Amino acid sequence: MESKNYTLGDRVVLKKGHPCGTNDWEIVRLGADIKLKCTGCGRLIFMPRIEFNKKIKKVMSKEDEDA
Ligand SMILES: [Zn+2]
Repeated sequence: MESKNYTLGDRVVLKKGHPCGTNDWEIVRLGADIKLKCTGCGRLIFMPRIEFNKKIKKVMSKEDEDA
């Protein structure tokens, strides 16, 4: 199991997407709680970091994005 490395501004895919149909989230705050913004509808959600670590499926950091 690889460790999940993410930082502020990264886009992440969760195991379960947002009800709006999007599964592409931007990390807008890092702390004991993680704040995520749904890139589909702009909705903000909070979840505890430990829960986020369980729900995260993939991190798309800026360095990994290639055209
Ligand atoms: Zn959404």
